[in-house]
Amino acid sequence: MPLLKRKRNYARLLIILAGALPLISGLIFTVIDARHTLHQQQVNAANTLLFQAEKMSDRGWDMITSLHRYHYQPCSQIQNNLLRTDMLSAYFRAIGKLQDDRVSCSSAYGLEPGSLKEIIMRDPPVTGRAWWSLSLTGTAGVPNRPAAIFVRQLPDGEGFWAIIDGQYLIDFMNAVGESHGYQLSMRFGHGAPISAGNDEAAKSSFFTAQTYQAISNHYPISVSVIAPGTELTRAWRHVVFNFLPVAIIFSILLMAFTANWLQRRLSWRDEIRRAIHGHQFTVHYQPVYNARLQRCFGVEALLRWTTPSGKVIRPDIFISAAEAEGMIVPLTRHLIHLLVEDVQSWQVEPGFHLAINVAAGHLQHPDFVSDMLKLAEKVKHQQIVITLELTERSLIQEGDDVARKLDELRKVGIKVAIDDFGTGHCSLSYLMTFSLDYLKIDRGFINAIESLGSETPVLDAIINLSLKLRLQILGEGVETALQLLYLQQRGVMLIQGYYYAQPMNNTALKGWLKRKGRLPIQTVNQATSE
Ligand code: C2E
Ligand code: CA
Ligand code: CA
Repeated sequence: MPLLKRKRNYARLLIILAGALPLISGLIFTVIDARHTLHQQQVNAANTLLFQAEKMSDRGWDMITSLHRYHYQPCSQIQNNLLRTDMLSAYFRAIGKLQDDRVSCSSAYGLEPGSLKEIIMRDPPVTGRAWWSLSLTGTAGVPNRPAAIFVRQLPDGEGFWAIIDGQYLIDFMNAVGESHGYQLSMRFGHGAPISAGNDEAAKSSFFTAQTYQAISNHYPISVSVIAPGTELTRAWRHVVFNFLPVAIIFSILLMAFTANWLQRRLSWRDEIRRAIHGHQFTVHYQPVYNARLQRCFGVEALLRWTTPSGKVIRPDIFISAAEAEGMIVPLTRHLIHLLVEDVQSWQVEPGFHLAINVAAGHLQHPDFVSDMLKLAEKVKHQQIVITLELTERSLIQEGDDVARKLDELRKVGIKVAIDDFGTGHCSLSYLMTFSLDYLKIDRGFINAIESLGSETPVLDAIINLSLKLRLQILGEGVETALQLLYLQQRGVMLIQGYYYAQPMNNTALKGWLKRKGRLPIQTVNQATSE
């Protein structure tokens, strides 16, 4: 597949992914949110249920406490009272007394009620406790309706019991569970669960059923709330409905952003290539002043890009785009090609300096040395001295390799300068590792000069260090006479900046060199007066 087509396919895929990302992550979020909402509803239902079960327990134990007054009293005497108490108390199915595990008295089972086991239709639990309660599937006489029994056993073998009818709890559970389709159940002690609500709840649909269990802090009561899968689907649909418009907006924005980014990314490469072929690049030259010789020392070559529509693209933008997209080597070769053409028409004295900016990507390229040697060869007859301006950033990677390359080039008379010195990292260590000829002090430090007498500690330190290391220093971005004088007073002899000359095209440069190339800089009195 051709490269461009492959790239377009890749771009399309990336845009689709960008669009899908908010939707997919949003959908995951909605499921989590729906689960959380459902869980919260289950917790609320379980707490309501526990509260009711505890209230029922309170009633049961209150009844047991009130039965205490019949302790030691024979059944025949209290039978009527029991009956009346039972009838007047809501919720109770039966109450009575025990003698060991035999029911000695009962409000509902006549004078010969039989054993506790017969009434509760199961073996009483062996709890070893004087107080216990148990949920039941039914009792003798009402075998199909759940109930809960509360029992108090005294040390003398006598005891009291009360059975609460489960219907109230079932009605309550039905009321709580109905709106959500929950199945609810509760257990007293290790008794049978009393369940109500949707008995299909545990079946799974698209989502599996969610079970939540809670236990009471006061009584041995546990409750469980089973929410059917459909309930989660319902909660999810609700969240999705609210979230979807936001997700779609995000999706569209991200797709547009990605498409825009891709277009710029894809097109920079093509644009630069097209601009090279379409002769849209030119070179401008900015003269550098030698204060000792009081004349022009050389020029720095700066690339310019003007599109056919007349739009000027700033070099810091297209240079970094070219670096990011692997176009810096072809672009620098193009610059060299343009330079060589321009230089042929120059009439400069031997030793005239021509500085070019070299990007990190080119420096590390295997053909770097041969590219530079070719340039040197082509301008040899003019006896022009080439200076390579490198940034500190470009020296960080593959330091040994780069040092070897630079040594090789210095041997044939090419000079090496560090550009924007002081703005990168570990500046001092470079001075040790690489053999250099110049430091170009960054514009920022020059800007900081306020008056001739004031100190700019970093700038002064850089100047002193360079002088000690016998490196030449060039101050760039010099815009005022004050800055010029300040630098000159501290021994900086190479000056570049608008104060001396602006970058200009080849024709303008040739005229400028003729008129001003051999003259001293024309200082305005402003510097000395400050
Ligand atoms: P640089 O190498 O530091 O170039 C100096 C920049 O400062 C130039 O901007 C120049 O026009 C500007 N300048 C010079 N004197 C003054 C002054 O007195 N005041 C102010 N404010 N500015 C001044 P330009 O041409 O826009 O270039 C910007 C950067 O683009 C350059 O910074 C360099 O890093 C890069 N660049 C330009 N041409 C090339 C090139 O051919 N190859 C590479 N690799 N980079 C280049
Ligand atoms: Ca430069
Ligand atoms: Ca610079």
